[in-house]
Amino acid sequence: MKKLVVITGASSGFGAETAKIFNANGYPTLLLGRNTAKIKTLPLDFTNVLVDQVDVTNYAEFKAAVRKAEDQFGQTDLLVNNAGVMLLGNVWRQDPSEWQTMLNTNVMGVLNGMQIVLDDMMAREGGTIINMSSIAGRKEFANHAAYVATKMGVHGLSETVRGEVAAKNVRVAVVAPGAADTELLTHVTDEEALATYNDWKQSMGDGGKTLDPKYVAQVVYQMYQMPQEVNIREVVIAATKQD
Ligand code: NDP
Repeated sequence: MKKLVVITGASSGFGAETAKIFNANGYPTLLLGRNTAKIKTLPLDFTNVLVDQVDVTNYAEFKAAVRKAEDQFGQTDLLVNNAGVMLLGNVWRQDPSEWQTMLNTNVMGVLNGMQIVLDDMMAREGGTIINMSSIAGRKEFANHAAYVATKMGVHGLSETVRGEVAAKNVRVAVVAPGAADTELLTHVTDEEALATYNDWKQSMGDGGKTLDPKYVAQVVYQMYQMPQEVNIREVVIAATKQD
């Protein structure tokens, strides 16, 4: 019997595509996001889907939703910590509240999710956590300082926890995608940084620079399909023409 898959940030982009692939393959899923109305419009078979309104920065809310889903579907076997936000800007002029939002969502949200499922995974010696980082967790990009800090943090914390729980047969892995066509940029408030990003995206011609988010979902799915004794620890996936 297929086990419970929990996906954060399922209302758009990578999270929505990941929800679709696991749903199409018959996995019971808990789909989390703040905009649940959007999740409910996804083209899914909702017979084994639970949707819950969760802000990943709210530990209690996050935990309650996971426990409720586990009461219905059994223990979480895969947590995809995907929810994230990218607010571009230069350190010398960006509103510090934007740094805080990214730190809270991209780092605290990931830590929250990991703590919520890890006790049980370690006790039963199985389970997988896949954290969504970014190619910006592997190299620097202009106008991305605070975002880069959060995503490099995701790599650091993931690899640390991976080593700590490996002996308990629990897999922790990271996916680091390049630029993709999602709603990520819609929250950027710095017009100049946004224009620079869009120029960069277009500089290699149509379709050359960005990933279709479905490929990121496919990678997450394939990582999970490996036998439990194999952990694809990290995947960097980007459009071929991305620099
Ligand atoms: P989207 O903006 O399309 O999706 C982000 C998702 O995160 C939404 O479903 C949003 O849901 C959710 N989210 C944001 N904040 C919170 C929160 N506080 N609590 C719960 N959910 C939240 O962007 P992507 O699909 O691109 O982003 C997904 C992940 O991929 C992020 O971690 C991002 O950093 C990463 N990434 C994206 C890249 C890209 O170019 N698109 C490249 C590399 C990495 P809601 O608003 O409903 O809460």
